[in-house]
Amino acid sequence: MLGGMQDYELRVPRLIDHAAREHPTREIVSRWADGSETRTDWAGIARDAKKLAQALERMGIKRGDRVATLAMNHSRHLVAWYGVIGMGGVIHTINPRLFDDQLEYIANHAEDRVLLYDAVFQPIVDRMRDKWKTIEHYIVFDGAGEDSFERIIGREDGNYAWIEGPEREPCMLCYTSGTTGNPKGVLYTHRSSVIHAMAEMQPAVFNLDSTAVALPVVPMFHAAAWGLPFAGAAAGIKFVYSAVNEPAVLCELMNREKVTHSAGVPTVWLGMFQHMDATGDKPEHLKVVTIGGSAAPRAMIERIMRMGARVNHAWGMTETSPIGTMGAPSADWADLDFETKVDITCKQGRVPFGVELRVVDDEGKELARDGESSGRLQIKGPWVIQQYFQDDSGSCTCPEGWFDTGDVAVIHPDGVMQITDRAKDVIKSGGEWISSVELENAAVGCAGVAEAAAIGIAHPKWDERPLLLVVRKPGSEVSADDIQAHLAKHVAKWWLPDEILFVDELPHTATGKLLKTALRAQYKDHRLA
Ligand code: ADP
Repeated sequence: MLGGMQDYELRVPRLIDHAAREHPTREIVSRWADGSETRTDWAGIARDAKKLAQALERMGIKRGDRVATLAMNHSRHLVAWYGVIGMGGVIHTINPRLFDDQLEYIANHAEDRVLLYDAVFQPIVDRMRDKWKTIEHYIVFDGAGEDSFERIIGREDGNYAWIEGPEREPCMLCYTSGTTGNPKGVLYTHRSSVIHAMAEMQPAVFNLDSTAVALPVVPMFHAAAWGLPFAGAAAGIKFVYSAVNEPAVLCELMNREKVTHSAGVPTVWLGMFQHMDATGDKPEHLKVVTIGGSAAPRAMIERIMRMGARVNHAWGMTETSPIGTMGAPSADWADLDFETKVDITCKQGRVPFGVELRVVDDEGKELARDGESSGRLQIKGPWVIQQYFQDDSGSCTCPEGWFDTGDVAVIHPDGVMQITDRAKDVIKSGGEWISSVELENAAVGCAGVAEAAAIGIAHPKWDERPLLLVVRKPGSEVSADDIQAHLAKHVAKWWLPDEILFVDELPHTATGKLLKTALRAQYKDHRLA
């Protein structure tokens, strides 16, 4: 027997229709690369998205075709998401910081037919044009010529009805940043994106309603800007976008536009802190600061909490849309002292309703949620990947539906998850595991240390031993002994690095994470002192 309720397909255009109907005048502010600013609102985004949909149909773009972007965060990029998805296409956000061979690989693999891009990325387009085999149309978001975005949508009247269809059709394609080999495509569905958006509005996740003013520093090409363009429409929030991520610009925008919510990877805050220290500037209105993409160091969490904001420590991955867990205040929060609150926020938090987590051992046996049993972290739910895009190997989950994240974690009895490392980054010493992440976090808590990376170096007796690479803060003369003394207070003795080397900089991936594969290759033949 079936129930008596409506089949209402969960399609992404419902999000923009809702925003345009219920929150039409809530603003979308864009600060452009040349320093100029424009302001539109949800009604304007919806209107322009319909014009873009018409223009794409005129170009012969069909349902299911991929339309790519190579762009920073701004209102026209948001228009592109809703316009492409609304006409039945698949928006593919390309990360401009990828290496040329990755850029070549993913656009060809995705078979993109159109590319919308920012003028600052013209050199990339010029370089790649011959290598991109399937792109027929190039549209410049902020250009002035015949092929500019404004000209192209300016020819349309916006009298357009979104394409309807099943909610399991694809709407968006994101490639993983390739920390671990060739980028892999994750093809989100309308359904997964809408359910994820609804989950994200929850108080325990992004805590969004129409009073929120969000400045997502996380780029729209990094795991769908963590889903915020969708959740933001569902909640009718005000967006403040900046096409440049200079701390002074971000700080000024945050204060002028009274930004309450921000989201970004930890490196964003390293830059903000340097700016704040140098100028005395400070974002005044922040209430919820979401940090994710890699582990947020304790010192960072503590400083932001002292600024009076709640820190959401988010864990997730492109394969999980990306929200997996969120470290947010717990039930007995009000009774806890400040240090304990910081300790809790250093962990990655709980799942929102919708997804489930477990940790398993190498044989796939589920481990206890006791805060001690560390194993491979697995996840399942309606916004978790089932199969990579155009991947012949089929499903990437186990028969019971669990997706193996490649992360190593413990789950505490209260449901709080704590990442201890990535499976391939743990340092295996004498049969035991040393968490490279914990070593790094402890090291950046030492005065004078700007950034640190721990990798395992082959060792005749112990299999591997830790080497710590450290970037000093400008002007600091912190020594290896100072760092060892600091570490000794925070980690087990046998975890202490065998050697500490000072370097000018560390390699990062296109999404700002430490590129451990490059470091391991560079120090492959290193002999520990
Ligand atoms: P890629 O897998 O290509 O690096 P993602 O952006 O999908 O790109 O990265 C997901 C990974 O980032 C996770 O599997 C995890 O290792 C790491 N990560 C994300 N958030 C956190 C966090 N809060 N703490 C620790 N690690 C995190």
